[in-house]
Amino acid sequence: VRVEEKLFYNRYLVDAGRAHIKVRPHAAPTAPLLALLKVCPARCYEMNEAGQVEVCVDGCVECGTCRVIAEPSGDIEWSYPRGGYGVLFKFG
Ligand code: SF4
Repeated sequence: VRVEEKLFYNRYLVDAGRAHIKVRPHAAPTAPLLALLKVCPARCYEMNEAGQVEVCVDGCVECGTCRVIAEPSGDIEWSYPRGGYGVLFKFG
């Protein structure tokens, strides 16, 4: 079974207006930000038309990969969603 197929079983409760990950505003993406386009298993990071990296946290599985890569450099701010929000894993 592909990872994408497994991710389909997860459910999310979106905390509207309170994204738990924020990308620092930037003119051009840094190396850590570019890496996020490749490493996020839920494909939450995308390059917009202006060439900046954006995040949409709605499908985030809270794996912490982007946190390890881009939080130390200050490129993103990362925190867990508020209680009751975020991912719900069907198979633990
Ligand atoms: Fe993607 Fe994991 Fe970061 Fe969520 S925590 S945005 S799933 S890399």
